[in-house]
Amino acid sequence: MDPKLSAEQALPPTDDVINRLPGIYYVFDQDGHLLRWNDNFLQATGYSHDEAAQAQVQDFFASVQDQPLIAAKIHQAFIDGHMLTEVALRDRHGERTPYLLNAVRVQIDGKTCLSGIGITGFRRYKEALGSQAGFDELTQLASRDLLNDRIQQAIAYADRSQTMSIVVVIDLDNFKLFNDTHGHEIGDQLLVQLARRLTSCVRNGDTVARHGGDAFVLVLYDQHDDEAIAAWIGRLAERIAQAFVVSGHELFIACSIGISMYPRDGNDVPTLLQHAGLAMNQAKAAGGKQFQFFIPRMNQRIRERLTLQDKLRRAIEREEFLLYYQPQVDLASDEVVGAEALIRWMDPEHGLQPPAKFMAAAEESGLIVPIGQWVLEQACMHNKQLQDAGFDGLSVSVNLSSHQFSPNALAPSIQSALKRSGMAPGSLKLEVSERIVMERPDEAEDMLQQLKRIGVHLTIDDFGCGYSSLNYLQRFPVDQLKIDQSFVQRLADDANDAAITQAIIALAHSLNLKVAAEGVCSKQQLAFLRQHACDEIQGNYFCQAVPFDQLQQLLSRRQEALQ
Ligand code: C2E
Ligand code: MG
Ligand code: MG
Repeated sequence: MDPKLSAEQALPPTDDVINRLPGIYYVFDQDGHLLRWNDNFLQATGYSHDEAAQAQVQDFFASVQDQPLIAAKIHQAFIDGHMLTEVALRDRHGERTPYLLNAVRVQIDGKTCLSGIGITGFRRYKEALGSQAGFDELTQLASRDLLNDRIQQAIAYADRSQTMSIVVVIDLDNFKLFNDTHGHEIGDQLLVQLARRLTSCVRNGDTVARHGGDAFVLVLYDQHDDEAIAAWIGRLAERIAQAFVVSGHELFIACSIGISMYPRDGNDVPTLLQHAGLAMNQAKAAGGKQFQFFIPRMNQRIRERLTLQDKLRRAIEREEFLLYYQPQVDLASDEVVGAEALIRWMDPEHGLQPPAKFMAAAEESGLIVPIGQWVLEQACMHNKQLQDAGFDGLSVSVNLSSHQFSPNALAPSIQSALKRSGMAPGSLKLEVSERIVMERPDEAEDMLQQLKRIGVHLTIDDFGCGYSSLNYLQRFPVDQLKIDQSFVQRLADDANDAAITQAIIALAHSLNLKVAAEGVCSKQQLAFLRQHACDEIQGNYFCQAVPFDQLQQLLSRRQEALQ
């Protein structure tokens, strides 16, 4: 191999090579699709080649309880560029085997992927290596295995002494950025200094461990009350935030801290670690630079989310989804020129559910991909039915989620929906929210170009909130901007929103784009939009989203009125 090639650019190994590896081999993309695997992988999972090609990586690498954690690890690995982690591989019968996975980020055909191997039986190797395996090479702190023993001892001690033992998970904020800015060597030195600083903060007998990467875990014995712990953690965070002097430079780092207590928050090592980790994630989600005690509600929320995901999985098979349609009116002709397909779920337990109740869970679990495909096919089928009934010229708008927005999968799935329905591509309008295209604008541009080549119409949805840059707007091959409804709804009483709406209309027209407004719910809003030459509107003022048969009736009534 060319020594100048980095892991990211290295040539992929041949099938022959991967099949001779002692462990499992896998490559998956950011959407969790498995792209390559070796024979050992199939043997370990019990899947066929076809089944492996269909499955999501989370199906293999985690039990249901672990899914949010492994998803977070994978997400982080795409950011950090590498992953070394212990997880359970789940075979088709649900049997779990612990694996040590080692993966790196690679580019394959312009796609960012994680490629790696996994070995099992590593616990035995480690035991054979003896006691030094219990310490982290860089920081000399206790490593993961030793940590488990120490937490176990802390549990036993708390039982004997009728006190509490505490598990504290500390994760540095934006350490990847720190490494990118200062280099890995300085990053490593900072970790070493931080390890010393943490050790100086705890008492003899307490444990400080490195939990991989930039995460540390403290195990504290002999604790008595929450308030004293909170005060101590506050002081610890202040200590961490003080300057580190590395190679003559003053450097600063902040962290997110999560705390779980024995016996209150769990009875065993995995539960205590998991709960402290959840609390840490909560602190991170709240902006970092803070600490958070575990509260059972966090666990409850995850459980609810997983139950919802199970129900959604069944909802696909049981055909519980349906499409509502909101008519779109052209303001020059006052004609209904199209309708936006909006998904609903008939939950057998709680009745009809709007997307706000289930889309986040569908996205998180990857179920949005099959659901989105169903929406596309159903919407195209319905539109073709209307066209055949004489409503030619009527378009249908379909919303795309960021998870569907994947370079190799989206265009074929649209082509398949068009082919199956026999609908003309020009009648399909795809809506992608501004936030999604602006997150990764270069990738979005390529993908929009692909879609444009199919001949569909492209709309940027919820426009106005996502910080579009004019530069990109000019380059994207889009046809229409749809003003976010938050501006439209405050048109009458907020001068700023009126000015922004007016500016978006002018901007769209200056780029030769059509402009639509959604969420129009009053006569005043409609008058304003008309006055400022907005091209299209939709909203409850004209008609709310209705089931397909009601859309058909509405269109027929309007047609009769015209004749
Ligand atoms: P969106 O694409 O911006 O759709 C417009 C939302 O505004 C719809 O909510 C619609 O019912 C609502 N709306 C329309 N007129 C009015 C009005 O006058 N007043 C008020 N308050 N609301 C109005 P809905 O159906 O709950 O959908 C919410 C969001 O869920 C959609 O926002 C879209 O982002 C997403 N969504 C809906 N269906 C799908 C789908 O099939 N796939 C994907 N990926 N996302 C979908
Ligand atoms: Mg939309
Ligand atoms: Mg919208």
